[in-house]
Amino acid sequence: MFAGTRAQAVNADLRGQMQNIIEFQDVSKSFGSLQVLDDLNMHVVPGEKLALIGPSGSGKTTILRILMTLEDISAGEILLDGEPLWHEMRGGKRVRASEHHLRKMRDGVGMVFQQFNLFPHLTATENIEQPQVLTHRKSKAAAREKAAEMLSVVGLVDKRDHYPHQLSGGQQQRVAIARALAMDPKIMLFDEVTSALDPELVEEVLNVLRKLAEETDTTMLTVTHEMNFARDFADRVLFFEKGKIVEAGSPEDIFTNPKEERTRSFLRKFL
Ligand code: ADP
Repeated sequence: MFAGTRAQAVNADLRGQMQNIIEFQDVSKSFGSLQVLDDLNMHVVPGEKLALIGPSGSGKTTILRILMTLEDISAGEILLDGEPLWHEMRGGKRVRASEHHLRKMRDGVGMVFQQFNLFPHLTATENIEQPQVLTHRKSKAAAREKAAEMLSVVGLVDKRDHYPHQLSGGQQQRVAIARALAMDPKIMLFDEVTSALDPELVEEVLNVLRKLAEETDTTMLTVTHEMNFARDFADRVLFFEKGKIVEAGSPEDIFTNPKEERTRSFLRKFL
């Protein structure tokens, strides 16, 4: 997984030929009377690294939560590798996905949240081992080996036997990233993973994500307010407002030559 160079999957030629790993087709989502996603269409090719940016409340986190099956959708369809996430066929009929179906689909998706949510009574290694053993029924030895590999990826081999309270916030978040990666997801979701950190700890976490973007072919979506990071990380940047994509393009397109006035006015706040 970590041997390859950055997937060059994103040039326009290949985009036409590859099956999308994620496809949102006319997806809407409401919470009561509040419409959060509005007829959203979004396609992601395997290996692509996406940054989702935009004002608070524009629906970015909801997109990740829907992919993680933490929220359902009000209308539309989402395909993962061509297979509907929120629907399935039963007895020749298209019905809402069962918990069994959702669990199967969720298995290919990993998410890292703002809060690291490590188990306080487990060491860094044990935190990474446990989901592999419980969910993937791996042997303890295999899970331990994978944990060691992932701790090396996030630069924390020397902290492997530390408990969360013995780690800084940045280190805890790097353990949480290692824990998600250890499940070998095809899609990784990062939801403002540095927003709960003290400013001096932000860069160490972002550098881990920059390295992952460079060295792995896993498909990655990140919601972020760190524009310099988005520029380094992403193959494609999506600017959201009110549950719609206002503008999408390469980091150069979005940060240097934004076409839409709404994108320009949003980005001015970060200058
Ligand atoms: P963003 O990530 O772009 O800041 P979110 O996807 O978190 O936006 O939220 C979009 C809107 O949906 C916000 O107005 C938020 O308050 C609302 N929202 C999110 N989750 C819920 C929920 N579980 N119940 C009600 N409203 C929600």
